[in-house]
Amino acid sequence: MKIVSVPLTRSHNPVTQAMHVAIDNLYKNSPASDCRLCGGAAFARFAAPVLERYEVSYWRCTDCGSLQTDPPYWLEEAYARVELAADLGMAARTLQMAQFMSLVLRIADLGSSASCLDYGGGNGLFCRMMRDQGFDFWNHDKYVTPFYCSGFVVERPTAPFAVVTSFEVFEHLAAPAHEIDSIFALKPELWIFSTQLYRDHGADWDYLARANGRHVFFYSARALESLAGRRGYVFVPGRQIHAFIKKDADGGLRRPTARAAIRRVLEGGRLVTLAAAANFTWRQRDAFRHWQSDRDRLRLGPAAPLPPPSAD
Ligand SMILES: [Zn+2]
Repeated sequence: MKIVSVPLTRSHNPVTQAMHVAIDNLYKNSPASDCRLCGGAAFARFAAPVLERYEVSYWRCTDCGSLQTDPPYWLEEAYARVELAADLGMAARTLQMAQFMSLVLRIADLGSSASCLDYGGGNGLFCRMMRDQGFDFWNHDKYVTPFYCSGFVVERPTAPFAVVTSFEVFEHLAAPAHEIDSIFALKPELWIFSTQLYRDHGADWDYLARANGRHVFFYSARALESLAGRRGYVFVPGRQIHAFIKKDADGGLRRPTARAAIRRVLEGGRLVTLAAAANFTWRQRDAFRHWQSDRDRLRLGPAAPLPPPSAD
């Protein structure tokens, strides 16, 4: 712990300026903590109960502008808790993500030969749906044995994967610098991920998800831009789904028109939803052929899961 005072990011809006001055005065002698993403000085912005029993401080980093909880000592309990209510939205979100991703891959001109990894894929439903769309998706999850994509699991992913997806992962990372680097090490041309961007929200922000205690890091757009830039990527922000695109990406992703179209898809809206649904439904005509082909592969191979895609 160190005691320092660092001014918060300034704005030209007089109301915002006044708010920042007030916050500076409030916290100028508060202890600082090292940001778990960039190592910068983070200051406590507010405290609030997590899991309805732990009083947790939320820290804003003055360097990258992200928000983070105290080092999350409660995660074991958070993940061990039996959910009284099932995740009723899971199936709908997975369908939405699959429709969205199938359209993005079509725009990027990435076909069945591009190896794709769903990082933190959970039960594997998304992976299976993408395989049914004709894409070479594999599932990786440190904590969950997938139900839907047996045989298409990668225990220890190694580079390269042309595409990485990580939905509902970023905000759960207790040590984001390390974990995000390990995904960049897979050298994807395109990385699509979800998270809500932090914009100086307060303790009443729903996305803190304090009742279940599993959201522990909240990224500013500036933090993600900086992360991408240092690793040779461009950060393309969306509503809740964003992209890292390799600056020197191959194939379709080289085309400025493709990048612009992906940016447009990430912005969402009614037309994008319709286009994604139409594209998905059209490709789904061949789902039977794809899962039949996967069944044949599994029968021909040994009982053990197939090996992950070659690194060559
Ligand atoms: Zn930071």
